[in-house]
Amino acid sequence: MAKPDANSIMEKITSLCKRRGFIFPGSDIYGGLANSWDYGPLGVELKNNIKKLWWKTFVQERDDVVGLDAALIMNPKVWQASGHVANFNDPLVEDKKTNERYRLDHLLEEKGVNVNGLSFDDMVAKVSELNLKSPKGNELTAPKQFNMMFQTHLGPTADAENTVYLRPETAQGMFVDFKTIQETARQRIPFGIAQIGHAFRNEITPGNFIFRTREFEQMEIEFFVHPNDWEKWFEYWLDQQKNWLTQIGAKPENLVFHEIAPEDRAHYSKRSVDTEYQFPFGLKELYGIAYRTDFDLQAHSKASKQDLQYRDPLTNEVFMPHCIEPTWGLNRTLLVVLCSAFEELDARSGEEDTVHEKEYILRLPKKLAPIKMAVLPLSKKEPLSTIGHEIANKLKKSWMCQYDETGSIGKRYRRQDEIGTPYCITIDFDTVEDRKVTVRDRDTMAQERVAIDELVEWFNGKGLTI
Ligand code: ATP
Repeated sequence: MAKPDANSIMEKITSLCKRRGFIFPGSDIYGGLANSWDYGPLGVELKNNIKKLWWKTFVQERDDVVGLDAALIMNPKVWQASGHVANFNDPLVEDKKTNERYRLDHLLEEKGVNVNGLSFDDMVAKVSELNLKSPKGNELTAPKQFNMMFQTHLGPTADAENTVYLRPETAQGMFVDFKTIQETARQRIPFGIAQIGHAFRNEITPGNFIFRTREFEQMEIEFFVHPNDWEKWFEYWLDQQKNWLTQIGAKPENLVFHEIAPEDRAHYSKRSVDTEYQFPFGLKELYGIAYRTDFDLQAHSKASKQDLQYRDPLTNEVFMPHCIEPTWGLNRTLLVVLCSAFEELDARSGEEDTVHEKEYILRLPKKLAPIKMAVLPLSKKEPLSTIGHEIANKLKKSWMCQYDETGSIGKRYRRQDEIGTPYCITIDFDTVEDRKVTVRDRDTMAQERVAIDELVEWFNGKGLTI
């Protein structure tokens, strides 16, 4: 992990997010709560736009993917059958002096050990072999396995029988509901079930802003196929993930597609490819795609004693569907969107009120920008203010539009650039005569006079709407 450095890109992005109300520490007035983040007025817009674009791309525009919103708390038998109760563990060690906890695999990686494919026992052996100490140089406790699922209790008594888990992934909802959805949505294999929702993991070392948190959101598809066809569909969904990355503005030079070696794959997977992104703090996993075979449907069939096999209505073949799982972390997507869009400029000349200091601009894809346009009357004086409100109210019917009449026009442009607003509309005294406004483009800074009556149509052609 990169050291916190006042000048680092990450520091600047984090501080812009706090300053402008995208994302800030949760429960802040009580001193926060370790690595919990709240998405403010602009953050929630950006997050919703990402979700909307994803849903449109993978559900709305397709015939072979349908949606689901499953309960967050599922019957605990789900997590026994899926293997999470037994296996969803991270190896944990504690600094004996400071009581700080660390992930053993991360500490070993920092010492240059390739932990891929190492069992828990292998890692324990490495601790004594390397005489491993904590990052503060102190003795470590003996490693133990730590289950990452959050537990709670259903109902008024907190005993073992009522123990339930907050879901650590959205995927199991799609497996458990597979049969019901296949029948009610009248889908034939191949088809997929998509879900966007919260997942919870009691991560030992959350951090890097919103990269690793204990509650996060996933966007996942379980795509059910005939076992003979899995290779074709795996390639297909990998391509879809790549196409998506261009939609969100991820720069190709920051992407690595990592074929996971057989010994490093999750126990249920016969092929996995991780999409890694070069974040300012290093190359890290962004998305994954896995061929989960029929592992989950078999496990749930066995545990629930329900036949989850599929009968093809045309061929009458009966088989257990196999599954390709592309998964997208929503919060990591948002972080990639911010990192890709963030640009630091030397103060730009040629516009009124140029400030002689660094300026920040978010060159967000227009569809994702939280605010699509800002209405900026040159003066608070009438009738500019009234005309401005009229225009803003009209545009608000179709887009998120801000009205701002405070501060110099240069400052107001900077404010909008910093939050990634693609267009600014200025109203001047000529507007009163010719009923035209000036529209400024965030990226080219080109200015165009557009008639007020034609504004909605003009913006309709600009690709702002998801
Ligand atoms: P990591 O190795 O980073 O812990 P993982 O391989 O355990 O991730 P998956 O179980 O494949 O992750 O989860 C699917 C996706 O969910 C990840 O690719 C990532 O985008 C997102 N994700 C997983 N854990 C977190 C977390 N703690 N915070 C934010 N996003 C997460």
